[in-house]
Amino acid sequence: MNEAMLKKKVKSFNTWDEWHEFEESYFHISSWKESSCEQLDKDLEKEDIIVSGVRWHSFHISYDISTEIYDLHEELSYVAYEAIEGQLEEGNDFIYDKKCNFCRVWTSEKTKQLCDFCGRKLKLMS
Ligand SMILES: [Zn+2]
Repeated sequence: MNEAMLKKKVKSFNTWDEWHEFEESYFHISSWKESSCEQLDKDLEKEDIIVSGVRWHSFHISYDISTEIYDLHEELSYVAYEAIEGQLEEGNDFIYDKKCNFCRVWTSEKTKQLCDFCGRKLKLMS
């Protein structure tokens, strides 16, 4: 299934049970391994980087899985949230910090839309 098909499927969910079942059957989430202490130390040691006046902090992803899978799972979990709990509040885009899973950086610059390092669309920091 491609991303659009997955999103369509998740949009049809009405309960968290449906989501958890899907999470398990598609992502095998209970078999995700936690990332190593070495990785944690490495991620926490990184210093902030300032690009054109925007300060980027590094963050740690707690699972040792590919970033593509992690990012897709997170994207779909937002879709599930909207499908099950209703629309996120209007203007949320400007309330939350923003992050890029691929570069493992986040910024409190809330109006920022794209990652300064890879150009991907930033995600809300959950
Ligand atoms: Zn990035």
